[in-house]
Amino acid sequence: MYLKSIEVNGFKSFAHKMIFKFEHGITGIVGPNGSGKSNVADAVRWVLGEQRAKQLRGSKMEDVIFAGTELRKPMGSAYVAITLDNSDHNLPIQFEEVTVARRVYRSGESEYLINGSACRRKDIVELFFDTGIGKEGYSIIGQGQIEQILSGKPEDRRELFDEAAGIVKYKKNKLETQRSLEIERENLVRVTDILTELE
Ligand code: ATP
Repeated sequence: MYLKSIEVNGFKSFAHKMIFKFEHGITGIVGPNGSGKSNVADAVRWVLGEQRAKQLRGSKMEDVIFAGTELRKPMGSAYVAITLDNSDHNLPIQFEEVTVARRVYRSGESEYLINGSACRRKDIVELFFDTGIGKEGYSIIGQGQIEQILSGKPEDRRELFDEAAGIVKYKKNKLETQRSLEIERENLVRVTDILTELE
């Protein structure tokens, strides 16, 4: 699996549609300070479901929408789409090519898409579980993040190892099953109470 392209339109400093195409091998993005290099990484984090504005170096989610300059009017929405080659089927989806997209409007309305079909944020987050690519994945290391990882709590560091070991989805399934079991246990107590009352 590899990242083939990133499309941005109205996202942060990218006022209009722009497509970054990547070939095999290493690609470097260079440019003067403040020209938008980190905004490209932010776009990837955002499309993968990042909800914390601070992680995207903003104060509120609306900050991801192009705010306008002296020469250009602000945009009403931000759109990002990333396309991945999935011919090795590393992503648990039948398609050989997967495009994940997200759009947000100033009104706060937003949508997520997988290969053009509307989906929930949860579907995108789960699609990338254990791939290292998710919004918490280790494939995007931001400025200052190495230091944060090294000085962080062992539990937080462990999350990275869990992801690399491919056990995040099992942990999540376990949690969900434990929650369902708990609910069933409570239901059973209630039923037992009712039965006792009836006897
Ligand atoms: P450096 O090399 O200093 O780290 P960089 O090339 O990584 O810089 P970024 O931090 O990606 O640059 O981009 C910062 C630029 O993006 C700033 O000029 C800022 O004004 C612009 N920017 C951020 N959000 C928006 C927005 N919503 N609308 C318009 N411009 C924005």
